[in-house]
Amino acid sequence: MKIIASNFKTNHTRKSTKEFVNAIDKFLTDNKIDNEVLIFPTATSFDNFDTVKNLKIGAQNAYYTKNGSFTGEIGTEQLDEFAIKTILIGHSERRHILGETQKDLTLKYNYYKALGYKIIYCVGEPLEVREKGITETLGYIWEQFEGIDLSYDKLIIAYEPVWAIGTGVVATAVEIAQVHKKIKKKISQPLLYGGSVKPENLEEILEIDNVDGTLIGTTSWDVEQFKQMIEITSKN
Ligand code: PEP
Repeated sequence: MKIIASNFKTNHTRKSTKEFVNAIDKFLTDNKIDNEVLIFPTATSFDNFDTVKNLKIGAQNAYYTKNGSFTGEIGTEQLDEFAIKTILIGHSERRHILGETQKDLTLKYNYYKALGYKIIYCVGEPLEVREKGITETLGYIWEQFEGIDLSYDKLIIAYEPVWAIGTGVVATAVEIAQVHKKIKKKISQPLLYGGSVKPENLEEILEIDNVDGTLIGTTSWDVEQFKQMIEITSKN
């Protein structure tokens, strides 16, 4: 069964997140949809949501600590308060805008792995790498796996070409299939695609070999569009 995940990034308030989560919970219940649905709200919107089992709330980011002096960060003490056991690691915005290095990500990955968190680990190449060709693209992605235990059973990988994130440009079916096939040779866990997914292209993306679901930003912030995409996912 395919997975669908929504990354809120720096969007929605505490109030609108609550309405969103409740609406999705009701939608899954009313339509008896049991696909895995993940929502990553901002940390200020965490709450003790009462949802169906297949709807999980995750953290977009947290530091590799229980607590301490890491100004601006949160740790597991804050995640535990809301029973959050799912975390996104390696998103391209954290790598390329916030400057997280592969070493930072490895430390974070190992910390959350040791605690048994479900980890959605993101990889993907920037445009200048993609333009050099598939060999360079794969080489870049393999470097993003350095220090990452790919045998971890609670791992989900998301392939998100940087040039397709938030740009409206989607990788072609051939481009997605090519990279997914190679990554799947290294893992048995689910592999998601992310990058300008929308209701109009979701079905086609889900039909590509080795695509086990999607990680969606922009179009998922609208509850009606997200419901539509959950419905499409449930039928594929
Ligand atoms: C993302 O942020 O993971 C993402 C895929 O964003 P968008 O859907 O907006 O391209």
